[in-house]
Amino acid sequence: MSDCHHVTLARSGIAHVQGCTGCGCVSVHLGPTTIRIDPAGLDSLLAVLGEASAAIHAERRAAFLDAHKGLA
Ligand SMILES: [Zn+2]
Repeated sequence: MSDCHHVTLARSGIAHVQGCTGCGCVSVHLGPTTIRIDPAGLDSLLAVLGEASAAIHAERRAAFLDAHKGLA
């Protein structure tokens, strides 16, 4: 039987991430929702969030360049 003990790994205004010293699982608290994943899942989540953020920034950059076409 694993002895779960959660310690804070990181915290920001939107999320609180805890790791378990017993079973190694990671808990991501987002407001009232908690997602429990393993460390590999956390890496995968980080990758997909980064990808989504990059896509939004790319769209904004494209929109900005489109709006300022002909000014250069
Ligand atoms: Zn645990």
